[in-house]
Amino acid sequence: MSSEQAGASGDAPGETAGGASNDTLNQLAALADAFAAEAAEVADRPGWESLRLAWLGKKQGKLRGLMGRMKEIPPQDRRAFGQGVNELKGRVEAGLEAIDQRLTQGERQADQDASRIDVTLPGRPPQLGSLHPVTQVIRLIEEIFAELGYSVADGPEIEDDRHNFELLNFPPEHPARDTQDTLFVDGGLLLRTHTSPMQIRTMLARQAPPIRIICHGRVYRNDNDLRHSPMFHQVECLAIDEGISLGDLKGTLEAFCQRLFSPETKVRLRPSFFPFTEPSAEVDVTCSACRGKGCATCSNTGWMEILGSGMVDPRVLRACGIDPARYSGFAFGLGLDRVAMIRYGIPNIRMLFDGDERLLRQVRS
Ligand SMILES: [Zn+2]
Repeated sequence: MSSEQAGASGDAPGETAGGASNDTLNQLAALADAFAAEAAEVADRPGWESLRLAWLGKKQGKLRGLMGRMKEIPPQDRRAFGQGVNELKGRVEAGLEAIDQRLTQGERQADQDASRIDVTLPGRPPQLGSLHPVTQVIRLIEEIFAELGYSVADGPEIEDDRHNFELLNFPPEHPARDTQDTLFVDGGLLLRTHTSPMQIRTMLARQAPPIRIICHGRVYRNDNDLRHSPMFHQVECLAIDEGISLGDLKGTLEAFCQRLFSPETKVRLRPSFFPFTEPSAEVDVTCSACRGKGCATCSNTGWMEILGSGMVDPRVLRACGIDPARYSGFAFGLGLDRVAMIRYGIPNIRMLFDGDERLLRQVRS
């Protein structure tokens, strides 16, 4: 074809060099056919690249040497030869361009196929956050006490000895002040070892009962094992008014524990000692896992020891400017982490503070 076109367009005069001219033009025609055959075989990008190098490559391209052969061509045929070479080059370039477009289109199609959305597949749910188990327990406890007419008091996590110990009737030699338990910070301050300083601050600020508050937050002790974390959470309840009795304490404990665990929860008080209450009692509740039958959670006793409680020691009231002859009150406190562990069946307190999303996903309320 190229020879025909080259011949047709060529207006080389005379037929003297017809033999040589035809030979050369035939060679060009053969090259064009060879390229067409090779081009038809190209199926992928590496094949296209090989074809391009084989024909247009600067070192071994088949078209490269052609122009250099011009001097072998009789002068009257040179124009036709030049046109033939240019035409062949144009064909090769156009052929490569066409294959390139075909491959690109195929690649695009493959990309689209790969990323096509299958509308029949079930949707992927978005990742939802959830409240930490301790936060969930705090919110529940706030709700329970709000219904009982209590408000929430607050206070600093860095305390002084006076609010953390002295006003709570801890004698100077009391072991709780020991560096074994307390984490001290510069300037004679310490990280509060319990939430009780918030009770003290509330009494000092108000001095005029009735007082009905709960306070909760982080507390710190120099303690770290499977059942203890150096940072944990407490909540405390304080009620002060005229004529408050141990019966009010027990009634409030029952109402609280039955809302926190289950309506059939029973409460048992055992005599104990705390510096800031007199009398003092440890509080057991029937195990929520076995409902009192005995299981691993309650060490087969049927009871869980979860609270400390008592009537506020008159010395504490007096130290906070409240007249113990007129007013009395009760206080109790418990570890929020322990309640969260019981409520959600979490075996190790440190799992609460690992920040593992898998735990948080399981306790989503
Ligand atoms: Zn049990």
